[in-house]
Amino acid sequence: MKLYLGLILSFLLLASCKDSGSSDKDMAEVATITKPIVIKQFGFNLDDFTVLQDTVRNGDSFGELMLRNKVEYPKIYKISEEFRDTFDVRKIVVGKPYLILKSKDTLEKAQVFIYQNDLINYTVIDLRDSVTAYNKRNKIKYVQREASGVITSSLSEAILEQGIDYNITNNLSQIYAWTIDFFRLQKGDKFKVIYKEKYINDSIYAGAEPIEAAYFEHNGKTIYSFGYETDTVNKVKDYFDEQAKNLRRAFLKAPVEFSRISSRYNLNRRIAYYGYKVRPHKGTDYAAPIGTPILATANGTVEESTRRGGNGKYVKIKHNGTYSTQYLHMKNQNVRKGQYVKQGDVIGWIGMTGNTGGPHVCYRFWKNGHQVDPLREELPTAEPLSDALKPDYYAFISPLKEQLDCIEFMELPEEDLLTENQ
Ligand SMILES: [Zn+2]
Repeated sequence: MKLYLGLILSFLLLASCKDSGSSDKDMAEVATITKPIVIKQFGFNLDDFTVLQDTVRNGDSFGELMLRNKVEYPKIYKISEEFRDTFDVRKIVVGKPYLILKSKDTLEKAQVFIYQNDLINYTVIDLRDSVTAYNKRNKIKYVQREASGVITSSLSEAILEQGIDYNITNNLSQIYAWTIDFFRLQKGDKFKVIYKEKYINDSIYAGAEPIEAAYFEHNGKTIYSFGYETDTVNKVKDYFDEQAKNLRRAFLKAPVEFSRISSRYNLNRRIAYYGYKVRPHKGTDYAAPIGTPILATANGTVEESTRRGGNGKYVKIKHNGTYSTQYLHMKNQNVRKGQYVKQGDVIGWIGMTGNTGGPHVCYRFWKNGHQVDPLREELPTAEPLSDALKPDYYAFISPLKEQLDCIEFMELPEEDLLTENQ
């Protein structure tokens, strides 16, 4: 009986996984759409015209382009004066693509001018009869993609190998910045991601959107993450796990990216320079080259930004009633007293001002007025999901989690694994 139940369960699981494979179909559709010759573009049947396609070159002006294509001067003047709100002819930019649709007769007189502001927005100036000008947008299509990988050397390699957008690597390491040490990834760590790709007019690839949901397996620990908008008005999106816990912490692990700790918080430190007397070190030193950006480890208000004695140039930020952080020996500060800063903002640069033997930032962590060791503190998580939002959140992630669970890992062939080992 037990075996029978097990069989049914696994069948159901398989069945639900097969259903969710529809995103592959969407991709195939997009791939086939790329090929056919596009005749109708920008709302015009290009077959009706002689088409000149070019980019704005150095020295080109709108007037000149028009004169070259037989548009009379009064018309050019009218466009430059009357349509400024829609299209300012003085602002055409070198390198931007444009199209001129000319009459198919021997005269080859310009009928329509199409200026491409960017991949999505374009301006049409219809020169026929009384001139009209308008701005339009290309159609955007989002296609959901699933991807997975097993890490053999690095995360970025595992992602690039599969032709996944490189932004996904950054995005993944941002989402898991607090929960996984990306410098310590191990062979065999695994990930899965669900994200959307953007296409213009069904065919032109225009990048990846932020990750919708992900799964990371590191050192036997598994962490799910789901992007969820906690503030629909300000479009604030955070990542939470399957238990609605925020994956972000209120504090960054360190105020400098890619640095090394040169001296830890140590109340019993003895230094030769001071005759081996106890000189407590109430900060954590992060060594990095001069000029390296120093980041605010949490949101807060700048309480001090000044220069004083051994501290040199420093910044102190008050985060709330409990926590403040301080950053010493800066080359220069980038913030003023009273200014509000967000987590990750550059507040200054690594320097050697004050008492220091080499370029580093001395990071001091204040809790209730005392300096403590942040590396030993259980740091608070960032804004938790409110109880009011939880039912909606669970409903939102349920299908995404099922979809993640159904993604299979792309295993490399044995030979590849062998060469990786050498
Ligand atoms: Zn220090």
